[in-house]
Amino acid sequence: MARSTSQLQPISEVWEWQLLGHCRDRSGIQFFHPDDDLGRISRRMREAGAKRVCDNCPVRRQCATHALTVGEEYGVWGGFSENDRTILRELGWQDALDRRGYADVTTLERRLMRARAKARKAKERREQGERHSGRSGLDRRPT
Ligand code: SF4
Repeated sequence: MARSTSQLQPISEVWEWQLLGHCRDRSGIQFFHPDDDLGRISRRMREAGAKRVCDNCPVRRQCATHALTVGEEYGVWGGFSENDRTILRELGWQDALDRRGYADVTTLERRLMRARAKARKAKERREQGERHSGRSGLDRRPT
């Protein structure tokens, strides 16, 4: 569908936040995991390192908003990993925008923390239930 001229923004305005990103002169390897690295621990460490860079980035909100809006599938954007964005899409994130229309990253981080804590508790309860019923996670044969 064609957009009216009032909807169009100059390309430079849409993308110029990227020029201010703290990752600008860094290797992309820290932000995007290489195809040959499927290790969960090394991936987690790399993501944590990338998130530390994002922490104080002046365009974090713009970056996170972009990634969530366009559905970036890979990499750390605005301090959120692929997995974080998947969870945020499930939980909803559009209600956490500031007055300028950028994602409020603090609110989204809290939302993620609560969701993960809830998932952890549910997992613990499940495991506890299995222990009490004498069924371990390895022995899930139907009775
Ligand atoms: S928030 Fe992170 S990924 Fe986005 S521009 Fe800043 S440093 Fe780069």
